[in-house]
Amino acid sequence: MSYTNTKGIVIREVSTGEADKIVTIFSRYSGKMTGFAKGAKRPKGALAAGTQLLCYSDFVMYKGKDMYNIQSSEVIEPFYEIRNDIEKLTYAAHFVDIINDIILENQPAAKVLQLFLNTLHMLSKTDRTPGLLARIFELRVLSLIGYAPYVKGCMECGSSDLDIYSFSFRKCGCLCSKCCSKDEYAMKLAPGTYMALNHIIYAPLKELFNFSVSQEVLYELEKLSRRYLKDRLEKDYNKLDFLKELKL
Ligand SMILES: [Zn+2]
Repeated sequence: MSYTNTKGIVIREVSTGEADKIVTIFSRYSGKMTGFAKGAKRPKGALAAGTQLLCYSDFVMYKGKDMYNIQSSEVIEPFYEIRNDIEKLTYAAHFVDIINDIILENQPAAKVLQLFLNTLHMLSKTDRTPGLLARIFELRVLSLIGYAPYVKGCMECGSSDLDIYSFSFRKCGCLCSKCCSKDEYAMKLAPGTYMALNHIIYAPLKELFNFSVSQEVLYELEKLSRRYLKDRLEKDYNKLDFLKELKL
């Protein structure tokens, strides 16, 4: 029997039988992996801790007929703080929704995994505004999978002189003052929103989260990111609406 050793984070769990679970793991080298976790529902089961949703663990598995069988799991980072906070948990569920849609089996996605882990770290260990973390995650993950919006110049005429900031969803990028009239649905951006967008797309990962924005910029980023995400992935991700309902 050949064993596979991989680090990964649990992004879905389905109960099966009396004490078992089937989990989907987002792994560093093989993308999504499906694993059978025998006895994982028993609180004292050897696999109980390491196979919980959002737990980042070191797994040893062997290939079965339909899926992997998890032999052992050792917790690296459980992200406890997220589990105990309804707001943080809802944000994490939103990230998981996106991850589940873009990550495939047997497709390495190490950069996306690193971004996901860093975002969960910021969400769980810091008091950074979750709304800003969400916009950073959404726009950066789209960039990583090849959907980076074009912000270095005008999509229409190619000019690198952006004298105003206007974003065309149809063109997936910015328009200059001469061209912005060509898309009546283009969204005007405050300079701060443009700068934040630029940073999110191009900053090195270690500097990615090192900035803050005004309420106005945060509002614009949310509007832009939601629409852009919906257009690119052809799905309206609406889990976060639940938080707005709670705050009514
Ligand atoms: Zn132009």
